[in-house]
Amino acid sequence: MILFEDVTKFYPASEEPALHGVNLVIEPNEFVSIVGHSGAGKSTLLKLILAESAPDEGAVYFESKNIHDLPKRDLNILRRRMGTVFQDFRLLSTKTVYENIAFALEVAGVDNDTIESDVPYVLDLVDLKDKADAFPHELSGGQQQRVAIARAIVNQPDVLIADEPTGNLDPINTYEIVQILKKINELGTTVILTTHNKGVVEHIGGRVVTMDSGKIIRDDKSGKYIL
Ligand code: ADP
Repeated sequence: MILFEDVTKFYPASEEPALHGVNLVIEPNEFVSIVGHSGAGKSTLLKLILAESAPDEGAVYFESKNIHDLPKRDLNILRRRMGTVFQDFRLLSTKTVYENIAFALEVAGVDNDTIESDVPYVLDLVDLKDKADAFPHELSGGQQQRVAIARAIVNQPDVLIADEPTGNLDPINTYEIVQILKKINELGTTVILTTHNKGVVEHIGGRVVTMDSGKIIRDDKSGKYIL
């Protein structure tokens, strides 16, 4: 469970907080879409979950531990339990699809036998087995995002955080990415996604948290995008 307790976050030199008294509970295995205009605080909320920045007031808990009180070693363990996907894919351009995914396992200290069985498994999950030897520039945007998703889930994280994952994609690729995220959620991973895309939210049909000016202004159980 992820819990935000009265979280306020200021960036230096800005008068208004990026997050203002945010309270939020995300249960294991939920699929939560976070929506809101640009500047509403969505990315800041994700950064606090990833412990990339700390709250000025309040606390963020992951399984009842205050993320921002963890010693560095425990923080690294926690970060491995979270996979991330971004709008701009962030693949390594000199590595093949297979190598991009294998690399995520190598840096986590996983042995070669496991790498050889897990990489094909996730490539199959994102329907890209035939592209294992391709380089990122040889793939469409949608295919690159599927590689990024495969890389994010290959370490079997508990939580997948997707910050505008369809922001650079056309409607067909967007639909495919949403389908894959839904499948990953059904396999037992919590998914937290930010989006501007009304169609994405309606297609997911799950919980929608709406933000405005650093506050949560709506929290709907199913699929409403109201701004
Ligand atoms: P969203 O993801 O919804 O577009 P953000 O979380 O990026 O919103 O931004 C929330 C607010 O914090 C905005 O007013 C934005 O200008 C400000 N902000 C975000 N990042 C920084 C930063 N690194 N330094 C200063 N202000 C920032």
